[in-house]
Amino acid sequence: MAQLTILRYPDPRLHTVARPVAVVDERIRRLVDDMLETMYAADGVGLAATQVDVHEQVIVMDTSPTHDQPRVLINPEIVERSDDKSFADEGCLSVPAIYDRVERHARVKVRALGRDGEPYEFEAEGLTAVCVQHEMDHLLGKVFVEYLSPFKRERIRSKMLKKVREEQRV
Ligand code: ZN
Repeated sequence: MAQLTILRYPDPRLHTVARPVAVVDERIRRLVDDMLETMYAADGVGLAATQVDVHEQVIVMDTSPTHDQPRVLINPEIVERSDDKSFADEGCLSVPAIYDRVERHARVKVRALGRDGEPYEFEAEGLTAVCVQHEMDHLLGKVFVEYLSPFKRERIRSKMLKKVREEQRV
C-alpha cells in the first residue's frame, strides 16, 4: 500500500467530474487500499478519488468512532433522500484547517459497489449522511466551500494559496 498525495483547494483538478468505474479489478482494489491508507494517515473520515487526482467514482469512508470500519463506495448513487435537512460543520482533507456549516439532507439511502464489486445498499444519517453527500460532491467536481458565501470562499481561497506559497519557500 502507498500513501497518495491529496490535492488542495483551489487546485483546478478538484473540479474534474469522475467517470464510473467500468470494472472492479486489481487496479481499483489497489486504489481503494491506497486511499484508505491515505485517509487514515490524514485523520480523515472520507476521501474521494478526485482528491488524489484519479477521476473515477471511488470513495472510501470510515465514520466509526473507533476508526476500524472502512466503507468502500464504487459508482455510488443516492436512491432516496429525506425531505428534512440539517446543518453540520464540515471540513475537508483538500481544504485543511477550514470548517464551516453546510446544509445537507438529514438522511440518505445509498447504492454502491463494494471493494470486490458486489452491489449493496445502506441508509445513512448523522455524520455518515454528511460524509456520503460531501464525498459524492467531490466526484462531481464540487468542493464544500462552494456552498459558502462568495466572500467566505474568496477568503479561504487566498488563505490556501498563501499557505502553498509559504510551503514552497521552505
Ligand atoms: Zn472533502
